[in-house]
Amino acid sequence: MAIRAIKGINDILPDVVGKWQLVESVARRIFSKFGYQEIRIPILEKTELFSRSIGESTDIVEKEMYTFPDRNGQLLTLRPEATASVVRAFIQHKLHLQPAMRKFYTMGPMFRHERPQKGRYRQFHQINVEVFAMDDPMVDAEVIYMLLVFLEELKIPRIKLHLNSMGCPDCRLPFRQSLADYLEGVRDKLCSDCQRRRLSNPLRIFDCKVDSCGKLVDKAPVLLNHLCRECEKNFQSVKDHLDSLAVAYTIDPFMVRGLDYYNRTTFEAITPLLGAQDAVGGGGRYDGLMKMLGGPDLPATGFAIGMERLILLLDDKAGALKDSNRLFVACLGEEAKKKGFPLVQQLRLSGLTVEMDYESKSLKAQMRRADKLEATHVLILGDDELAKGVATMRNMEASTQEEIPLEGLVEQLLRRLQ
Ligand code: ATP
Ligand code: MG
Repeated sequence: MAIRAIKGINDILPDVVGKWQLVESVARRIFSKFGYQEIRIPILEKTELFSRSIGESTDIVEKEMYTFPDRNGQLLTLRPEATASVVRAFIQHKLHLQPAMRKFYTMGPMFRHERPQKGRYRQFHQINVEVFAMDDPMVDAEVIYMLLVFLEELKIPRIKLHLNSMGCPDCRLPFRQSLADYLEGVRDKLCSDCQRRRLSNPLRIFDCKVDSCGKLVDKAPVLLNHLCRECEKNFQSVKDHLDSLAVAYTIDPFMVRGLDYYNRTTFEAITPLLGAQDAVGGGGRYDGLMKMLGGPDLPATGFAIGMERLILLLDDKAGALKDSNRLFVACLGEEAKKKGFPLVQQLRLSGLTVEMDYESKSLKAQMRRADKLEATHVLILGDDELAKGVATMRNMEASTQEEIPLEGLVEQLLRRLQ
């Protein structure tokens, strides 16, 4: 039996690649205007990097990572997210000593062993943005603003911004206790995961996808009502800056995100168009992570966008081929083919998009192929034409035809097609 790709791990075929290229190029263009530089990080890292940063009792670390020992017995993991690696690279290369390197973006595949469905895959792709060593609330607002500008540039419809604050260790510790007390009262109704995490990491219940836990969460105390004065002030300031940029948002005190490292402002861009997989992107501040991973104590914020979900939301025509000319060279006969082959290469080097038929098919078959390839023009080189010292050029859209002398043919074609 033919070998198939692994479940939840998909090919991206040429007919949708235009959309991917569009998303990537818009990201590069917009992010560089905001002062971001691209960084490329490995797909494989030591397992410890992720278990320490994402949190031992998160779904990602408990259930979703692709982890295996390599041939030396070293435990490795296919990255489930990018932030930990960017922070690791920042620390490893001492980039804090280089003031020009503070704002980064990266894109590429991530791996999570989840149940595959529309908008949820086991290999998926993210665009990630990370900012280090800046803790002004203005930076939080600008990061969110840039995410929205990017989505708007791609004309992604009906995006809603959800905003929350995860506080700081000072306000989270006492809050954890009151949440744990609440969960103690309803412990029989919790799913088995939440029962287990009730004491070690009670906040995880807000991220639980089980219905019955969702109902309990509605009545649970929320961190947003227990922020310390500093966090309260900080959150207000982020909102004020967003107001100054005319960004609309909904406060969502139940949004905790799936990773433990967040603090203070967190956010998600949500759409009603993707069913249960409604988050197009999300992120927030993670001030403690760099220090926790052994680096300098520098604040950080950022976000990740799911590329598959973006592609699902793009207009059908987005990323379609540009209206530039495409030439098909049809050669009829051995002599014509000998002349046509180097001519095709020369035209390509001159900047034209050119295809030919290699199989000596009939003119009718070659014209059919030219049509399939959406060629705008076909150059017909036949032995008869060669004898006359001309080639026939057909304009496929206008259905017109003309003879062009072989002498000076390249210049003539460039003049017509470039
Ligand atoms: P969700 O709540 O949908 O599981 P998440 O909170 O796990 O999302 P993040 O870890 O914040 O997601 O990743 C950022 C973005 O990456 C998500 O908003 C989503 O668009 C995308 N994403 C996450 N997991 C997957 C997946 N398995 N398949 C496709 N896209 C994904
Ligand atoms: Mg998830």
